[in-house]
Amino acid sequence: MSIDRTEWGVAEGYVREYGHFIDGTDEPSIGGERIERHNPASGELVASWPAGTITDVDRAVKAAVRAFEDGRWSGLTASQRSDVLGAVSRKLKSDWKRLALIESLETGKAISQSADEIPWSGDMWDFAAGQARALHGDSYSGFGESKLALVLREPIGPVGIITPWNYPMVVLAQKLPYALAAGCTVVVKPSEFTSGTTLELAQILREAGLPDGVFNVVTGYGNPVGQRLAEHHDIRLVSFTGSTATGRKVVEASASNMKKVVLELGGKNPNVIFADADLDAAVDGAIKAFVYNSGAECCSGSRVIVERSIMDSFVAKLDERLDTVSIGDPLDPATKMGSINNKPQYEKILKYIEIGKDEATLVRGGGASPQLGGLFIEPTVFKDVPLDATIAKEEIFGPVIAVIPFDSIDDAIHIANDTEYGLASSVWTSDLATATKMARKVNAGVVWVNTFLDLPSEIPVGGVRQSGYGRENGRYAAEEYTVVKTVVLQDPSAAPRYLV
Ligand code: NDP
Repeated sequence: MSIDRTEWGVAEGYVREYGHFIDGTDEPSIGGERIERHNPASGELVASWPAGTITDVDRAVKAAVRAFEDGRWSGLTASQRSDVLGAVSRKLKSDWKRLALIESLETGKAISQSADEIPWSGDMWDFAAGQARALHGDSYSGFGESKLALVLREPIGPVGIITPWNYPMVVLAQKLPYALAAGCTVVVKPSEFTSGTTLELAQILREAGLPDGVFNVVTGYGNPVGQRLAEHHDIRLVSFTGSTATGRKVVEASASNMKKVVLELGGKNPNVIFADADLDAAVDGAIKAFVYNSGAECCSGSRVIVERSIMDSFVAKLDERLDTVSIGDPLDPATKMGSINNKPQYEKILKYIEIGKDEATLVRGGGASPQLGGLFIEPTVFKDVPLDATIAKEEIFGPVIAVIPFDSIDDAIHIANDTEYGLASSVWTSDLATATKMARKVNAGVVWVNTFLDLPSEIPVGGVRQSGYGRENGRYAAEEYTVVKTVVLQDPSAAPRYLV
């Protein structure tokens, strides 16, 4: 049964209408056009926001530049900034229901998952609040008694943040609080499909005491809004999460003023299961790794690489356990997997499933579930997938896995690394030597052993190869938003002379 929407903060049938958020106020777009968002699980109109223009981006950047230069945020003490971030964290942890509902209405994801994601985001704000105070530079004193060198960490300047539709609040929480902790001001462009919670957050930030102009949101399409932000001369860093193809465009656009870029891109992540693994745990992990968030997960374990000796028992158990995954109404707390987020993504996944049918053996699923009334796709399992198959190579970003056999640990390492990506990986084994070798040899930003999508705020995440660069979360995240400045202090009475 669905949750009571009124009790969760947004009555059934209510359509939320937003403006951009610029310099502390809600503003319409200069162009006047709007984007309507329909719930992908039901088709119901749930919200609308402006289709921003270049002029809107320029206005928001101007506000962020002004707020940066007059020091209304960067000039505060770290402890004052930390207080604001902490207040946001407390709000997200205690008052999450309305945001969780909005997240599910706009993304189609299961409400049980959204109900985790908002407090999880709050935890990142909490961690970043600590980082605001922990950020520090360095000093050198080995040059004799009359000289000292200091290494300062200063905020890099106004930052652009571009986020995707799969985790609107979580991805924002991996970036925004760290940028604010460092003293930066920000312009965010959320996905055209899921801008609601980012705009709701603006109100929370205002109530928490963030000065006007420090946080700005311009909604709209990737081009022109994201493109303009990535190109803008007054933006000093762009942090982007999304596809590798768009990431490349962001890098190209950044050349306009040589701005720094932090990229969290796609993956074709290996999930390697050895014969000595706890099979129940490995099957459960493999299911979470492609069903969670309907597979729209950059760390998704989309290549399941299984030791040949257990292949049949693994696939049989996987098939059996998938019977227990409830798919359907995202607002039913019992639902594990909701709908696909948007029509282009839905069509893309179905196209890959058809390609897979020609490349490998279909074990389960294999199509849409139109009887559920929205953009639903069955969890789909392919086995005997050749290494050069399209479904073994390309990111599908849906509930589809390619199961691939291996014969030895070296074989497993070779297959795991046979990709242009390198975001995440999982290994399931009870042998420490196997775990250690895999952890050292797999090319990925993270190696999970006997667990999946285990992301406490303390640990950094990010990719290698075409999965991007730069790190989010952990102490590294706030540092990304700083520049290092060196100061050399010389006692003038002992200053070395050039012309003597
Ligand atoms: P995109 O990479 O296009 O979208 C991510 C964000 O970038 C969105 O806010 C988008 O805007 C924006 N954007 C689009 N074009 C530009 C541009 N030229 N300059 C700056 N920003 C831009 O992903 P899609 O939504 O098109 O999804 C396509 C594929 O990307 C998926 O199938 C999946 O494979 C991958 N993906 C990976 C994600 C990850 O977490 N690594 C997340 C999402 C997608 P808008 O959408 O509003 O137009």
